[in-house]
Amino acid sequence: MKTKIHLLFGGKSAEHKVSLQTAKAVMNAVDQTKYEVQPIYIDATGTWHKGGLLEGKVDDAKLLEFKQAEQSVSPLTLTEKENEVVFPLLHGPNGEDGTVQGLLELLNLPYVGNGVLASSAGMDKIAMKAIFAQAGLAQVGYVGFIRKEWEDNQQKVISDIEEKLPYPCFVKPANLGSSVGINKASDRNSLVEAIKEALQYDRRIIVEEGVTAREIEIGVIGNEEPECSVVGEIVPKTEFYDYQSKYEDGDTALIIPADVSDNTYQKIQEMAVKAYKALDCSGLARMDFFLTENNEILINEVNTMPGFTPVSMFPLLWANSGLDYPALINKLVELALERHEEKT
Ligand code: ATP
Ligand code: MG
Ligand code: MG
Ligand code: MG
Repeated sequence: MKTKIHLLFGGKSAEHKVSLQTAKAVMNAVDQTKYEVQPIYIDATGTWHKGGLLEGKVDDAKLLEFKQAEQSVSPLTLTEKENEVVFPLLHGPNGEDGTVQGLLELLNLPYVGNGVLASSAGMDKIAMKAIFAQAGLAQVGYVGFIRKEWEDNQQKVISDIEEKLPYPCFVKPANLGSSVGINKASDRNSLVEAIKEALQYDRRIIVEEGVTAREIEIGVIGNEEPECSVVGEIVPKTEFYDYQSKYEDGDTALIIPADVSDNTYQKIQEMAVKAYKALDCSGLARMDFFLTENNEILINEVNTMPGFTPVSMFPLLWANSGLDYPALINKLVELALERHEEKT
C-alpha cells in the first residue's frame, strides 16, 4: 500500500511565491511508485484548496489547476489514517512557524519537518537569538523591539540601538524569511526608513550589527541524532543576499563544498548540531553562518523549512553529501514517520 503524502503549499505569508516553486519541484521528484500525493494549496488569504491527486509530471498549467481547485476545505479535513503523512512545504509565518505544526499535532498526524517549538522559535529571530545566546553560540549583537515601543518613543528605540550597535546594521522583521523586508542601514536616516519598512511585515523587529564576512550554510537532518551535510558558501553579486538575488536574477554563486579548513568545517558542524539541539529541531534545518576575516564563526539563523527546489542550497548540500533530491524527500518522510512512532 502506498503512503499518502498531503502536500501543503502556498500559504498565508510573504513567502507564498517561494513555496510554489518548491512545491512544483517536490511534486516532480516524489517517487510515485511509493507515494500517492494529494496537493493542498493554501491561498494568500489562508483558505485551503483540495483538488485531484497528483499524477505524472507537473508543469505550470497543472500547478495552476491545483491552485484553482474549487473545493475549499477546512484544515480539519485532514484526519488520522493509516499510511498518511503531511508535508508542509510552507515558508514564513502561518506555515514554518509552528502554527500548522500545532494543528497537525492535535490531529495526531505524522508530518515532515520540525515540531512546534523548533518551528516557532526558529521563525522568530528574537527568540531564536536568545536561545542561541543561552546555548553559548557566538553571534552578532542585536536589539529587539515591538511596534508599540517604536510608536510610543522612537527616540528611545533609536538611542537603544545606537548605544549597542555601530553602523552599518541590518533591520529585519523578526518573523519572516527570503530576506523579505530586510534592509542594511548605514546611518540614522536609513535606520528609520528600514524600521518603517520592516514594520509593514511584522510587529516584532530585530536590528543586528552588520558584519563583513563570508556566508556559509550547512544542512542538518535527523531527529535525535542529527547529521550534517558538507558546507556551502553564498557569494551574492548584490550588496547582500537579498530577495532579488535569491529568486530573481540568479546571479548568486553557490559554492559547494565551500573552501574552508577542516578545523572550520568541524567547528561549524559542532555549532550547527548544538543549535539544532538547543531549538529541539527534528527532520531538517539549514543553519546560516558568518565566517569573518579572523576566522570567527558566528551563527546567523536557522531555517526550519529551507528553500527546497533542486537548485536551492539545502538540497544541493545534501546532493553533495551523497543524498540526491528524491532520496532526500524519502528520508524526510521516513524521519516524519519515525518521530511520530516514537511519540505514540
Ligand atoms: P532566509 O530565511 O531566506 O535564509 P532571512 O530572511 O531569514 O533569509 P537572513 O538570513 O537573516 O534573512 O538575512 C538575509 C541576508 O542578509 C543574509 O544572507 C546576509 O546576506 C544579510 N545579512 C543578514 N544579517 C546580516 C548581518 N548581521 N551582517 C551582515 N549581513 C547580514
Ligand atoms: Mg531565515
Ligand atoms: Mg527562511
Ligand atoms: Mg538566511
